[in-house]
Amino acid sequence: MITRSRSSYLKALGSDVWVRRELAASSAPGEVSRRAVTVNEMDWEELSAAVSLCTKCGLYQGRFQTVFGVGNREADWMLIGEAPGAEEDRQGEPFVGRAGQLLNAMLTAIGLERSAVYIANILKCRPPSNRDPRPEETLCCEPYLKRQIALVKPRIILALGRIAAQNLLKTEAPIGRMRGKIYEYEPLKIPIVVTYHPAYLLRSPTQKARAWEDLLTARRLLAT
Ligand code: SF4
Repeated sequence: MITRSRSSYLKALGSDVWVRRELAASSAPGEVSRRAVTVNEMDWEELSAAVSLCTKCGLYQGRFQTVFGVGNREADWMLIGEAPGAEEDRQGEPFVGRAGQLLNAMLTAIGLERSAVYIANILKCRPPSNRDPRPEETLCCEPYLKRQIALVKPRIILALGRIAAQNLLKTEAPIGRMRGKIYEYEPLKIPIVVTYHPAYLLRSPTQKARAWEDLLTARRLLAT
């Protein structure tokens, strides 16, 4: 049964309220009860369903499909990028195409399989012409990523590129200044290492050595 006061309260706080269907112990056989849930209470299935139906920002209009995230939901490493590109939008998976191949090679170089990490983006829908995400779009999409981080509970977060780093760390600092330091994802005290986006490394291969240093820093952190 929906608790009306709880639902109204959550709505008044500006929370998106979804209805969870569940078989309650007190229900008659076959009867399904319903309970209001917010994004930060959702399980994986509910979260993935909420994202796939989301129309909270204008980007839903141009997407072929949402790109939720992929990988090990109990991973030590969580990699967070910017937003889906054309190929990701087509395939429904983050970091595919040439940038994805480079990311896989980077992971292999530090002894990690792609399937061992969890990969997500700041935005779940593709911005037109791959433009930068707008603040109102990242704000709308943020609760989904926050919930993914809370569900995975990674031991380390690797922020891939300026947009990911700036949004996770709530700063406008350029990536060159953010690299080389250890930050913290405050809500859960998870260390964050900032590195370049693989798409940038494809355009600027001389920066690959720096990205390698960042990966080693992250690996060292995990070993301590
Ligand atoms: S980008 Fe995020 S907030 Fe915007 S429509 Fe897609 S899922 Fe919803």
